[in-house]
Amino acid sequence: MISNNTTSSETRDVVILGSGCSGLTAAIYAARSNLKPLVLEGHEPGGQLSITTLVENFPGWPEGIQGPELIENMKKQATRFGAELRMAHLNSVDLSVSPFRLTLGKDTVLARTLVIASGASARWLNLPSEQALIGHGVSSCATCDGFFASGKEIAVIGGGDSAMEEALFLSRFASKVTLINRTDRFRASPIMLERAQAHSSIEFLTSTVVEEVLGVEEKDVKGLRLRNTAEDREFVLPVSFMFLGIGHIPNAQAFRGMVDLDEDGYILAQDDVHCTLNGKAIPGLFACGDIKDRKYRQAITAAGSGCMAALEVERFLEEQGR
Ligand code: NDP
Repeated sequence: MISNNTTSSETRDVVILGSGCSGLTAAIYAARSNLKPLVLEGHEPGGQLSITTLVENFPGWPEGIQGPELIENMKKQATRFGAELRMAHLNSVDLSVSPFRLTLGKDTVLARTLVIASGASARWLNLPSEQALIGHGVSSCATCDGFFASGKEIAVIGGGDSAMEEALFLSRFASKVTLINRTDRFRASPIMLERAQAHSSIEFLTSTVVEEVLGVEEKDVKGLRLRNTAEDREFVLPVSFMFLGIGHIPNAQAFRGMVDLDEDGYILAQDDVHCTLNGKAIPGLFACGDIKDRKYRQAITAAGSGCMAALEVERFLEEQGR
């Protein structure tokens, strides 16, 4: 039953939640199977690739490709085969009914299958100067942008395993890495911490917070204005890059209590793509990309899992006789 205040409702074979690399790959596959998927673009259309600059590790682009262009190409590819992209985001979802009921503002969409591809968002410091310099020396992805730090002095923010991993990875390119942790306690596992501490080109600053990223006018990071909170002392660290390694936030809040999540809110997918509740598969519900991948988080792995989800959608609908 659809409530009276809905302005429209429709039933779709496939709804894909999210328009990043995994969602769009799922859309390409589902569209080529003539399933006319509806892609809800969500809060961050294009996902994390849309805020990256040059992507040099996506196979097939020997000279690299700009992240937004790669996403644009995927959108074109999906729509060419009949996918519909809609600027909308999910207000609420009811997974206890079949088809699933999605509420988008005043509209309702009934989905015979739903692919959750809403990704994970990098955690930022949320300083205006940091936000202004994303893609101009501020990055949340060492694997994507590390190469551009070749021969430069850089900073990595964070004290967990991600920050240690980024610092170790970036030390291959950068002439010097300064790891900046806001306290003198580390969340990183002892082995990762020791490895980073033992590295000759990684220096540690503890009890230190970033107050400002310098270089907004030049549109290029020139340094960081820092504050040592233990001594209440301000100083400037000249660096050309700032990498954030302060964690990610999986965008699965709308599904809390409806699907199994791990302790940090990532979807626990069975056989890589099947969503479960209390360990039992939920028929017709799939997840792909960073929403269920805390480990690899690469464009190509997200694309791969989008493909897998779409193939499972096809199989499921076929079993339902559609
Ligand atoms: P964590 O939550 O473990 O660590 C986040 C770090 O960022 C903490 O040091 C935290 O500081 C700091 N931080 C958070 N917000 C801010 C802020 N606003 N300003 C400054 N610092 C901030 O996240 P990770 O991504 O490091 O790890 C997530 C999970 O993934 C962990 O379980 C980790 O073990 C795992 N992982 C494993 C890897 C491996 O085994 N190779 C690699 C990467 C991750 P504070 O402590 O003060 O809150």
